[in-house]
Amino acid sequence: MRTEMYINGKWTGGSGTTFPTHNPATGAVIAELPEATPSDVDNAVAAAGEAFSAPEWAGLLPAQRARLLFKAADLLEQRADEFARLETTDQGQPLAISAGFSVPNAVEHFRYYAGWVTKITGVTAPLSVPGVDYRTRREPLGVCALITPWNFPLMILVWKLAPALATGNTVVVKPAEQTPLTTLLLAEVLEEAGIPAGVVNVVTGGPEVGKTLVRHPKVAKISFTGSTAVGREIAAEAGRALKKVSLELGGKAPSIIAADADLDAVVEGNLMSGLLNSGQVCAAATRFYVDRTRADEFAEKLAGAAGSMKLGPGLDETTQLGPVVSLDQLEQVDRYVRIGESEGAHLLTGGSRADGELAGGYFYRPTVFAGVGQDMRIAREEIFGPVLSVLPYDDPEELAPRANDTEYGLAAYIWARDIGTANRLAHQVKAGTVWINMPPLLDAGAAWGGMKASGLGREMGWEAIEAFTEVKSIWTSLV
Ligand code: NAD
Repeated sequence: MRTEMYINGKWTGGSGTTFPTHNPATGAVIAELPEATPSDVDNAVAAAGEAFSAPEWAGLLPAQRARLLFKAADLLEQRADEFARLETTDQGQPLAISAGFSVPNAVEHFRYYAGWVTKITGVTAPLSVPGVDYRTRREPLGVCALITPWNFPLMILVWKLAPALATGNTVVVKPAEQTPLTTLLLAEVLEEAGIPAGVVNVVTGGPEVGKTLVRHPKVAKISFTGSTAVGREIAAEAGRALKKVSLELGGKAPSIIAADADLDAVVEGNLMSGLLNSGQVCAAATRFYVDRTRADEFAEKLAGAAGSMKLGPGLDETTQLGPVVSLDQLEQVDRYVRIGESEGAHLLTGGSRADGELAGGYFYRPTVFAGVGQDMRIAREEIFGPVLSVLPYDDPEELAPRANDTEYGLAAYIWARDIGTANRLAHQVKAGTVWINMPPLLDAGAAWGGMKASGLGREMGWEAIEAFTEVKSIWTSLV
């Protein structure tokens, strides 16, 4: 385990105070980490600035840079078990998620972007100007600040880091203060892979460290994943300074269940969409629109299945649902459940913190509300916990307007046997990603990001290459 910051190829305890990171399954402190001071941030940005134009990095041939990323993927894969266990210990997610999804997805992202390095092309265009040759080049931006949330710390970092490095940028990473440990361990892997000093730097700490980084005049781009409230602040700062910015923000994904859907398959799929990582997923399905004639049957089946999931520590391989990340998050979830009750929603299962053996950790029982109204806060605001709401509908024509009646637009799920209905709805819903008859899957090749207040720009795919480069036009006189 690494508990120091990584700046200019050196591990440092920093020059300020420390903060603890906790094991959400027990509440115990795992480690104390340095809270970066403005001068630590300045050192990290300066190191990244120098590394950006140093021959060891800027002078690498594309094939050489690709090899570094392939090597990073291999080394991460070799240590997958260690990373998965550390992620589970710090974040709480069951091993099935950390070992089966988070770490392999990070490995594949490195490989996918390693593959792009040798294929980042510009265009030539036939201009209507006599005697010129014209082409474009995609160039890196400079020092990129990568600020990450606590729900999938390693995986979300690599969504940013792999394309940032593939395109020749240098970075300063600030992991969420609740879950910094796998980010620091990844810096060790990158060093071993041969990434030169200064190319990747990690500063630890809370929101103030993030703010200092965002405002730093030598930071060219901010790539942020986190809450919509903080995303707005970052966008405002970036706007004033005219920095590039990508934002992956909150969500309140609808799951639309047509009258002809196979309810058993839908319950199974929606359990994963709604409760993966204890609902701490930006794309979590949390508003289930069900035909009124089948809403009770669906709600009862969903509540039965959710209520029988095994809560427990993530390191226990029989666990299906782990703790939420922190006491703050636990209290937020409970606050929303009480709001749901006071708004008149009908609590079918859950609704309280787990007790007994689990009382020391941040465990919340999976919770299902029936009879939820469109205007209730539990149907409109992001809870980010294991709380699911069933909303009956009478007329399929209501579906798209109600699904879109939210400030968010990250993801949506559609369950329908009639493929025409499913695809019409997929076109009508304002969401960056729509899954039809399936739980949420991700792939490095599929663009990811939100519409409306769920974000700006896209990650993954070619879109991330665009997000970490800018286009230069080069004109040459032929006369
Ligand atoms: P958060 O916004 O509180 O914090 C995210 C990161 O930003 C942390 O590293 C934090 O220290 C830092 N930060 C906080 N205030 C800052 C400021 N003013 N300036 C700069 N940095 C600041 O979010 P969180 O609670 O860690 O994560 C949960 C949120 O992330 C949810 O809203 C979730 O939907 C969203 N999320 C979105 C996606 C996506 O792909 N769209 C993925 C995962 C999580």
